[in-house]
Amino acid sequence: MGEEGQRKLLQSSAVIVGCGAIGATAAQLLVRAGVGRLRLIDRDFVEPSNLQRQALFDENDAREALPKAVAAERKLRLVNSEIEIDGVVSDVTPGNVEELLVGFDLILDGTDNFETRYLLNDFAVESGQPWIYAAAVGSYGVTFVIRPGMTACLACLLGTPDAGTMLAETCDTVGVLGPIVNLIASLEVAEALKILSGRSEALHRRLLSCDVWSGRMQSIGVTRAANCRACVRTDFTYLQGESQPHITMCGRDSVQIHERRRTLDLEALARSLAAAGIAVTKNDFLLKFGVPPYEMTLFGDGRAILKGSTDPTVARSLYSRYIGA
Ligand SMILES: [Zn+2]
Repeated sequence: MGEEGQRKLLQSSAVIVGCGAIGATAAQLLVRAGVGRLRLIDRDFVEPSNLQRQALFDENDAREALPKAVAAERKLRLVNSEIEIDGVVSDVTPGNVEELLVGFDLILDGTDNFETRYLLNDFAVESGQPWIYAAAVGSYGVTFVIRPGMTACLACLLGTPDAGTMLAETCDTVGVLGPIVNLIASLEVAEALKILSGRSEALHRRLLSCDVWSGRMQSIGVTRAANCRACVRTDFTYLQGESQPHITMCGRDSVQIHERRRTLDLEALARSLAAAGIAVTKNDFLLKFGVPPYEMTLFGDGRAILKGSTDPTVARSLYSRYIGA
């Protein structure tokens, strides 16, 4: 990178969407390398089952049920106090994507679902911001740098056989092995460092896929699709889409309910739930309570994560019963 590259890196900014497995490892690598400004966005909180592959978190974070964006920001500040780190507890939706991502030199994928990836892709292509796709399931992972107008985009890519088909299996059914997370995050950040240090000519421009179980590694050249919905026809379906009120989370039996433009008074809710005889645990960012066999976690921005069901109807009904319609 050289001295000049290091200086450029220090003046650069990046945003990571999703700070679980790949996102947290990528964040740590970027912070240690000396990126100037880093924003971490995550909608979820730390649980014991995350610790097997999410390298930035520990048992204390899980016990306190800290939001991943908050826990990550705290850890990363201890690693490098000289850069600007900003953890945001939020779900990226069509309604807030611009506000959260605009102005960053690079967007990195740390998400666990294709709904959000397509949204990132539409936003990046429309705004001309580069972003890096990265995903892992089981022992397999894939990553590719998307530079709008110069390379294929995610919509081009997923029309291409071999590029993402194996990712149709979800973390819910097969889980994710720790080593593939670290490998994919490393490959993602290597490209990020080239972009952020002003060395884009060094990008390898290949789609890399790896399977740490079989040992199969592939480097594939990808071309733009002649009739791509996003980067050719500029049909930004996901950007225009209404935010999805219900999203099934990855990796466990739960559903997220996203109430737009609603803030919850967690203090008041905790009091009224406790008055109704419901056991409540609360930290500065969220409130958790059990309604056996379910567990509900509420965030100040109106979101709720219901554990114990993937049925949106059950989630919606519990949300209106305890929080209000
Ligand atoms: Zn495209």
